[in-house]
Amino acid sequence: MRYDPAAIEEKWQERWAADPKLYAAEPATSEKPKYYVLEMLPYPSGQLHMGHVRNYAIGDALARQMWMRGYNVLHPMGWDAFGLPAENAALKNNTPPREWTLANIAAMKRQFNRLGMGFDWATEVTTCMPDYYRWNQWFFLRMYEKGLAYRKKSKVNWCPECATVLANEQVIDGCCWRHEDTKVEQRDLVQWFFRITAYAQELLDGLDKLDGWPEKVRTMQRNWIGRSEGTEVDFFLAENVDKGPGAKEQGTEKQEPSHPTGQKSSAPPLRDPGRDQGTKGTEKTRIRVFTTRVDTIFGATSVQMAPEHPLVKAFTAEDADLKAKVDELLAQQKTAREAGDLGAIDKHGVATGRFAVNPYNGEQVPIWVANYILMDYGTGAIMSVPAHDERDFEFATKYGIEIRRVIKPVTEGEGSDALPFISEDGVLVNSGEYDGLSCAQAQMKLQEVATRGQFGEEKIIFRLKDWGVSRQRYWGTPIPMIHCERDGLVPVPDEQLPVILPEKIEITQQGGSPLARVPEFVNTTCPKCGGPARRETDTMDTFVDSIWYFYRYTDAKNSSAPFGRERAEYWFPIDQYIGGVEHAILHLIYSRFWTKVMRDLDLIKNDEPVGRLFTQGMVIKDGAKMSKSKGNVVSPDDMVARYGADSARMYSLFAAPPDRDLDWQEDGVAGVSRFLSRVWRIVTKYSEIARPESADSHPSRERSRDGAPRPMEQKLLRKLHQTIAKITQDFEGRWHFNTDVAAIMELVNEIQDADAQFAAGEVSAPIVHELLRSLVLLLAPFAPFLAAELWEVLGEKGAILRAPWPKSDPELAKEDEIEIPVQINGKLVAVVRVAAEADPKTIEDAALANEKVRERTSSKNVMKVIVVPGRAVNLVVK
Ligand SMILES: [Zn+2]
Ligand SMILES: [Zn+2]
Repeated sequence: MRYDPAAIEEKWQERWAADPKLYAAEPATSEKPKYYVLEMLPYPSGQLHMGHVRNYAIGDALARQMWMRGYNVLHPMGWDAFGLPAENAALKNNTPPREWTLANIAAMKRQFNRLGMGFDWATEVTTCMPDYYRWNQWFFLRMYEKGLAYRKKSKVNWCPECATVLANEQVIDGCCWRHEDTKVEQRDLVQWFFRITAYAQELLDGLDKLDGWPEKVRTMQRNWIGRSEGTEVDFFLAENVDKGPGAKEQGTEKQEPSHPTGQKSSAPPLRDPGRDQGTKGTEKTRIRVFTTRVDTIFGATSVQMAPEHPLVKAFTAEDADLKAKVDELLAQQKTAREAGDLGAIDKHGVATGRFAVNPYNGEQVPIWVANYILMDYGTGAIMSVPAHDERDFEFATKYGIEIRRVIKPVTEGEGSDALPFISEDGVLVNSGEYDGLSCAQAQMKLQEVATRGQFGEEKIIFRLKDWGVSRQRYWGTPIPMIHCERDGLVPVPDEQLPVILPEKIEITQQGGSPLARVPEFVNTTCPKCGGPARRETDTMDTFVDSIWYFYRYTDAKNSSAPFGRERAEYWFPIDQYIGGVEHAILHLIYSRFWTKVMRDLDLIKNDEPVGRLFTQGMVIKDGAKMSKSKGNVVSPDDMVARYGADSARMYSLFAAPPDRDLDWQEDGVAGVSRFLSRVWRIVTKYSEIARPESADSHPSRERSRDGAPRPMEQKLLRKLHQTIAKITQDFEGRWHFNTDVAAIMELVNEIQDADAQFAAGEVSAPIVHELLRSLVLLLAPFAPFLAAELWEVLGEKGAILRAPWPKSDPELAKEDEIEIPVQINGKLVAVVRVAAEADPKTIEDAALANEKVRERTSSKNVMKVIVVPGRAVNLVVK
């Protein structure tokens, strides 16, 4: 009989499908310890790719092993089913998004089952279904009540040709994806936001405790949150300086500085300890800057403002020439923003001709507008210190702005004159009374002075922005708000949820939000006054769907709450989450945010959703990530048809460590298939000896009962128990599944080498039984179909998934040891024990580590070590 994966796999697929309890988790009352293993849910594109196969093969191997280890395992699956592709497909094929999506889900579910993935489909979650998204709406309302959901004006991508908002991925090189010659504009629209910034500090602090997460992901999140400690300082407009703190509103001449940079104002410094300054000025008379290096403020030779700064608007209102130049900067900034690369913008600026006063020394510095200053970071204005900042240095050099050193190194040496000098390890110079202070001292001191003088304060800012969740799209969760002429914004009452997404709609991707064109949807009555009102027509960002879906798995059928509290408490945090590193930021920060919000809503107790996170590598073919556009996609269906699901899965685990990229080689799949075929032959060939009932009666058992195991038996058992130990340990976290599969291959080689002895009955039946039975158990997480089949061939009853994972016996696994004498200058001083097959280096190390040898060599020089493997070690010592 030949190994026939198709026949085996179809048989078991049917059996498993007929047993819905097989992969089902037990209730929270279970005696077993719980284990929640989860792979990120896929977008239902209609076709699994090899990246999926790899991702799910990792999680499935783990789930299966945990089942066998006796855990109560939750291993669910669902669909991230809202999103733009469904609308694009609708436009292209004239298929309604819902129909298209559900057909894709059915196709992918069939593929999952064909691959033998052990998911509990009873807890399936499909995010585009009302029974799920109603809870998105419910959460939205809770967020609104707590002030965590709010509206504000914000920028969107707008195609004037389509007359609609574009998603970022629909903007290609600054143009509309459907109108390649039409420049995308940025427009201000009132949009909904989630106040994630309210949790910025907690999201940052929580990262320290996530030691089950890859360090690179934690670093990416830290950078994304971007906490900066610093100081805000007010520079007053020179023309208003006398209207500044403590001065009268009128009666002073406008100051017209005649020198462009660095000139002393005739006005006294604002910091005047003898005077109670009382006021902080107004938005019209001061420019508030944020700096992390207030210690360098005496080196500030200009103030730089964002083109959108309100004061700049005031300046340009009086100056058409300036306005034209600022508009140009604004356009450059927009282009860079659309290209998604603000960091690399070509820096340009324009001098306003106005001046601001440094509050510490009264010095007037020119005010510039620059395209690399962003209104939505910090205060939208900075002080420019070219001597001590890379970017400021570049800008000042380009525009001839003064560069003034105010920090020198503690110890001056060669090259210490070079500018810019970027270090916080220095001493202040050219800084008046603060000269000689260290940077750290000066920061504290100058901050105090600002606070006392009421022209500044200590400030912590975050790069993290509130999360814009409004989408002017159809295929998403409707935002449950109503606009009433009389009452303004009115939340949809809970009992009216879900706000159902209408199905009859023409997708045009033109003319604004699609829902606005469905009168039955839009027109409603105000829940407050009963008068006519309009529904909100924005839908939610699809990231909302995937921030809490894993809670729903614990209680997917609940119709009165998003999930039951006890169930979430039992299953959370997720023990092991597995997915691509591309989700390190958005998905994984939003999910953490949501968990904290749910905790504050008293729905759960855990602070973090995920205990351990694993990010697998990509699948590469012909030097590039597999993708349709590259034409290098390998279809899992093809691989399954040609080699079987077990081979495709096992190859994806064998070809590279799971955290590395995998270079797809079809030869490799064929190789794994040949290996499984060998396993099949060996196990079926000796299954009669190995069957539990025959193991008792077989004559070979009698033969070995009295005497000690034969050397061949000992060797086989040693290999088996070493393999069990290695794989068991590896599942604990290293996950070098590639070397685990290799270890199983070695074990099979040894068994095959003993073929003649097996045939001659020289290996006792109980040992044959143990070898083959354990081999099949070890295979089960990696090749579940073949393992299930061979389990039956061996006469075992019940699902292999419920059979206990084999235990390694350390006595049997131990290598044979031999004693080796150690001589120093020809005299025997010790005897060391090493493995029989130990290499010379291991023997030498063992000899040098021996207590007696160390005593005799500690104060001397070991000139030479001669190792005679298996025999002796000779040391020459002087
Ligand atoms: Zn367009
Ligand atoms: Zn009303």
